[in-house]
Amino acid sequence: MKLILLGPPGAGKGTQAKMLTDRFSIPQISTGDILRAAVKAGTEMGLQAKACMDAGALVPDAVVVGIVRDRLQEKDCQAGFILDGFPRTVPQAEALTATLAELGKNLDAVLSLEVDVEALVERLTGRRTCRDCGRGYHVKFDPPQQAGICDACAGELMQRDDDQEATIRKRLEVYREQTLPLAGYYQELGLLTRVDGMQEIGSVQQQLLAALQAA
Ligand code: ADP
Ligand code: AMP
Repeated sequence: MKLILLGPPGAGKGTQAKMLTDRFSIPQISTGDILRAAVKAGTEMGLQAKACMDAGALVPDAVVVGIVRDRLQEKDCQAGFILDGFPRTVPQAEALTATLAELGKNLDAVLSLEVDVEALVERLTGRRTCRDCGRGYHVKFDPPQQAGICDACAGELMQRDDDQEATIRKRLEVYREQTLPLAGYYQELGLLTRVDGMQEIGSVQQQLLAALQAA
């Protein structure tokens, strides 16, 4: 199963990708997670990326295209993968098409999670992530049993620096300008299925599974 989860920041891509990863035993490739790990490790690439991420802007295409090209060649991607947060621009999508052709792989589906802007802002301002294991929560829609503490590993929950309302609105504008055109790109290729991401987490998962069966 080789698929892309498309959708704006906060649409639920990471939440759904983790559930699909468990179900199909294929890796989630989140460029956001990879970039945050590089920032944490203090690499040169991480330092450059941090300025873009803090501003709510995109990291240059060449950087993320290189990251994904390397990642797709790792052994655990042989049976499939879930791309989450990539591609985000038409040039990234074109580079991905070329990379997959080189590797002799075809996408099975591109699933687009559709969510209203004000719901996205509410989801992103309430998003929390475990500092230790990376598990995601929402203070209202998916709360931990004990506030601020991860159910899975008892780690401390944190809020991402870019999940402040001003940066969120900037990211949503960047999404509308640079990423939204990708729906047309994948529709032309006959790969796009739109899914109602406004439903609760379990129901979105059911819709995604149904779309994958139909793909
Ligand atoms: P993305 O990876 O697309 O940026 P996330 O998966 O991190 O989005 O989800 C953003 C926030 O919204 C998280 O706090 C998550 O718990 C919450 N969330 C995800 N899906 C839903 C949903 N269907 N309904 C309500 N909240 C959701
Ligand atoms: P995310 O975790 O997907 O919300 O991404 C967080 C931030 O990482 C984004 O706001 C961008 O600055 C950067 N980023 C992640 N993926 C990409 C990508 N495919 N292209 C450019 N920048 C990206």
